[in-house]
Amino acid sequence: MRPMTYQKANDARAAVQALAAAAGGDAALTESSIQPLAGGTTLIDLMKLDVMRPSTLVDINPLAGSWSEINLENGNLRLGALARMSDVADHPEVQRLYPVVAESLKLAASPQLRNMATLGGNVLQRTRCTYFRDVSYASCNKRNPGSGCAAMDGFNRMHAVLGTSEACIASYPGDFAQALIALDATVEITGKAGVHQMPFAQLHKPPGNTPEIETVLRPGELISAFVIDGRWPRSLYLKIRDRQSYEFALASAAVALDVQDGIVREARVALGGVATVPWRARDAEALMKGQKLDDATAQHVAEAAMAGASARQHNAFKIDLGKRVVAHALQRAAMMEI
Ligand code: FAD
Ligand code: SF4
Repeated sequence: MRPMTYQKANDARAAVQALAAAAGGDAALTESSIQPLAGGTTLIDLMKLDVMRPSTLVDINPLAGSWSEINLENGNLRLGALARMSDVADHPEVQRLYPVVAESLKLAASPQLRNMATLGGNVLQRTRCTYFRDVSYASCNKRNPGSGCAAMDGFNRMHAVLGTSEACIASYPGDFAQALIALDATVEITGKAGVHQMPFAQLHKPPGNTPEIETVLRPGELISAFVIDGRWPRSLYLKIRDRQSYEFALASAAVALDVQDGIVREARVALGGVATVPWRARDAEALMKGQKLDDATAQHVAEAAMAGASARQHNAFKIDLGKRVVAHALQRAAMMEI
């Protein structure tokens, strides 16, 4: 049993001040001794496993009034960070105008978890790498920097083939982040200096030599919302997993298309399950612009999306699976009736 302090933040200012108290000694939010608590479905799990050991939890749920809104005004989609996954997945206008967002949430976790879990917590969930989650393994650079990586020569079937480093090959486990990165979402961050926005694509950091630092967030910074410009009715999320529900992706694709008169004007492709961070395949997208999206083009794009992939002993199958998921998702998106 580890002693721990629980605080309830009644407004954003109080939350940020309480969380920033750790800023002196802590380099990154994931490492911080003071953690925000949202739905708790990742954080409390990892505390029970002794993987995360915060000395203080700052409960941000009292901010839900203004931080859980789903707003479709002005031709955009604004999602509060404390919106529950199930509320966004079940929202009829989100389903109609942003199917990729609704599906990425609907296909995640279980109904009970989706009722509890928030969008902000979802994008910040941590890897499911067994060696990270089991403290009896000494070697894990993410949990214990400099200790090595047990997965490199261990059982690495679930691990990443894109964006890996010599220090870590853990895959990013979430689904919703792929929809956000595909649609060029902006993330709104509330901190001591006020509120600022940045591209969601800049939030997560690839492992490099410091896999313990997973995002650019600093202690005292909270995600308050996500914003997606425009409407994306021709979009979808395809997720392949070992069983049909309640399972993380082996490979997934978030795709969005703007097709006029049979020609692709705009195309977005992001991959999950295969990469260390939410993965946008920009070079592959470029191959579709101004083209008709036939099977040959979809295949060509799929090959390009997995370019640079590198496998370990048990996860080579993900390279082919990733290609098939991308090609199939694009073919389905092209056939959607809008
Ligand atoms: P919390 O656990 O409260 O927080 C997670 C982390 O984010 C903590 O470090 C916390 O300090 C930080 N945090 C939370 N909110 C904020 C904020 N606003 N600003 C800054 N920091 C914040 N997810 C999928 O995508 N797909 C799946 O298939 C899937 N399957 C699952 C299966 C199981 C059995 C479980 C337990 C989880 C699964 N999940 C899956 C993960 C689940 O979706 C996440 O646990 C959940 O979304 C996290 O949200 P939360 O609100 O509970 O976060
Ligand atoms: Fe740790 Fe990353 Fe290696 Fe898993 S893959 S054991 S998280 S360093």
